[in-house]
Amino acid sequence: MGSNKENLSCSFCGREKKDTNVLIAGIDGHICDHCIRQAYGIVVEELDTQERKELSRSMRLIKPKEIKQFLDQYVIGQDSAKRVLAVAVYNHYKRLSKDKGELKSDEVEIDKSNIMMVGETGTGKTLLAQTIARMLNVPFTIVDATVLTEAGYVGEDVESILTRLLQAANYDQKAAERGIIFIDEIDKIARKGDNPSITRDVSGEGVQQAMLKLLEGTKVNVPPQGGRKHPDQKFIEVDTRNILFIAGGAFDGIQRNIARRLNTRAVGFHGSKDRDSLDTTNMLSYVAPQDLKSFGLIPELIGRIPVLTHLDPLTPEVLKLILTEPKNAIVKQYVALLGMDKVELDFREEAIDYVVEKAMEFKLGARGLRSIIEAILTDAMFELPGEAEEGYKLVVDKDYASTRMDKMSLNALKAVS
Ligand code: ADP
Repeated sequence: MGSNKENLSCSFCGREKKDTNVLIAGIDGHICDHCIRQAYGIVVEELDTQERKELSRSMRLIKPKEIKQFLDQYVIGQDSAKRVLAVAVYNHYKRLSKDKGELKSDEVEIDKSNIMMVGETGTGKTLLAQTIARMLNVPFTIVDATVLTEAGYVGEDVESILTRLLQAANYDQKAAERGIIFIDEIDKIARKGDNPSITRDVSGEGVQQAMLKLLEGTKVNVPPQGGRKHPDQKFIEVDTRNILFIAGGAFDGIQRNIARRLNTRAVGFHGSKDRDSLDTTNMLSYVAPQDLKSFGLIPELIGRIPVLTHLDPLTPEVLKLILTEPKNAIVKQYVALLGMDKVELDFREEAIDYVVEKAMEFKLGARGLRSIIEAILTDAMFELPGEAEEGYKLVVDKDYASTRMDKMSLNALKAVS
């Protein structure tokens, strides 16, 4: 430890300089590379424990009922999906917050509860996943399953999903490892036909296979910039064990599979009474894992996404609520937008009904609502800024709405939606 150059030693372990790789001098002592490494390990472990404790503390505060209440502020209806999601997310984070140090070898290991949402397009699948991520304040990314291919084919490797999550997490690897990934259009990678193909199926089954490890939990070397793996690119290792995957898809036509299954069962075991009590307007509510299989998802994939829920089709009543009720409802947004130009927007109920009617007529779903309102208000939003006097009131009634709508062609509407 002394200042005698020949006899320098580490002030922590006493190793002499000649026995170390590096000896760093401080104000009143020295530290060797061995001790630095050891100290670093202690710091990482300590911070990790603190982080887990914090997480478990914060998660104790958010119970499934509260998760659902939070979702209620942004998403209309879809009660069964909300309940299932709330429980799955709660369990997922309970599992995360379990202090590793306390885990005894004979203790039960809780499996991941990845979630599958089946529902027509525009019914709020993405919105639900987004809202959950916002509530938990974790990195969130949406990937489209249709662009994914197996490694080596034209398209994006399955691993690119993790690049996106890393980007969403600002390259904070630890945060990314607790993130949520929403895989949209998972139904588009279904196997075509019920028979396993002999030739390789680039767009379907192969991608499903490639996804298995990711869903289950594995360590992946992720190129931070995405794209093809270059030998000179530095990788970031991402462990997917604690990443929550939420998959969504419209599964067009799955109603037929469900009906077929229910029918056979009803005839075989329960007689026709059960069949009569079926709600045939909402067959999706009976969706079961075997329907996903007969649609073309491989059993291994279905098994790794064990939580299955459905979204209800949007009725005119629900569309009306979507326009006006959520915290950032579309009508509220336009009131705020025009308010910035000192214009008071009075969007009458009859106009709202008209918008809903058009959205139903054009089968545009909730996604079309914004385009229709945009079409109705474009003239006003062009003319009024700078022209309207302070306190100007713009009344949008059914007449106003239908006149503006008639100018807009359906094709144009479809293009913006
Ligand atoms: P999906 O992912 O099911 O195709 P999205 O979640 O992307 O549908 O919904 C499209 C848009 O429609 C959302 O941005 C949202 O504004 C609106 N929307 C759809 N369903 C609902 C709902 N249940 N409550 C509130 N808004 C909804």
